[in-house]
Amino acid sequence: MQPSLIVHGGAWDIPDDAIAACKQGCRDALVAGWSILSKGGTALDAIEASIIVLEDDPVFDAGYGSHLNLDGQVECDAIVMDAATLRAGSAAGLQRIKNPIRLARKIWEECPHMMLVAQGAERFAQKSGLPLCDPADLISPAERAAWLQCREDEHAAEHHRGHEQGTVGAVAMDRDGRLFAATSTGGTCCKLPGRVGDSPLIGCGCYADAEAGGGSCTGYGEAIMKITMAKTAVDYLRRPTLPDESDRSFTKRAAQDATDLLLRRANGTGGLILLDRNGIPAFAFNTPRMAYGYVAPDGSFFTSI
Ligand code: ASP
Repeated sequence: MQPSLIVHGGAWDIPDDAIAACKQGCRDALVAGWSILSKGGTALDAIEASIIVLEDDPVFDAGYGSHLNLDGQVECDAIVMDAATLRAGSAAGLQRIKNPIRLARKIWEECPHMMLVAQGAERFAQKSGLPLCDPADLISPAERAAWLQCREDEHAAEHHRGHEQGTVGAVAMDRDGRLFAATSTGGTCCKLPGRVGDSPLIGCGCYADAEAGGGSCTGYGEAIMKITMAKTAVDYLRRPTLPDESDRSFTKRAAQDATDLLLRRANGTGGLILLDRNGIPAFAFNTPRMAYGYVAPDGSFFTSI
């Protein structure tokens, strides 16, 4: 199979002065993932590498630079899902994990359960050899400043201008046709402590099934959950074998239909990326902008907003 990779850095009203940083972040994530896939590496290694780059980049709302909750703390969520087995590894409410996607992968690999939260998840991380960080290490100066303004004043989007949202995601297919999808987020700004959105929930912020494809969503979590958006989008990819399996418009339509449904049934804004079972990428969003990138069939990197 021809390997394939698509990433996103969140659907929101990205201001003009953040466009270059968001595009560069997506490009760096493609470089990291593609350096693995192009050498015959696995889709799992590729999505992990791509997501780590995005988590480490404070322009995105995941890992370092995540939004702070009402108490001024970071609480991260992440998930990885294997399309072949339908097994996911998911973790939520993490305060001491530098790269939440690493823990999601460990849960996928080693845990009898598919989802762990908060201290239980962090205890499992330690047991599996992942170090815990100081919660303060995840807080960027920009997020801290925005949180302080919200606390003095009232939570307002203006305080977060330039970094309101930016959940990250990746979907990859490797040479063996293995497909994995992943999503990582710091959630929404000034959320109540303990709030978990769509991102780490199987079928909501992420889903993958080898019979159809895989996807990662971004946007207003409480709306995305209502329509189990990732599973819904992947279900739109189900079809009998067609003479022309490389029909790109079919994948594009599935992505568009899912975002249309988000608006129609849940009055929600957001977007998603998809790879169908043949590795054909597609994206859609109903927000003013979404940061995304994919590797084109000729191996070149395409990033846009
Ligand atoms: N979906 C994420 C959440 O609700 C936020 C985002 O995608 O920007 O936690």
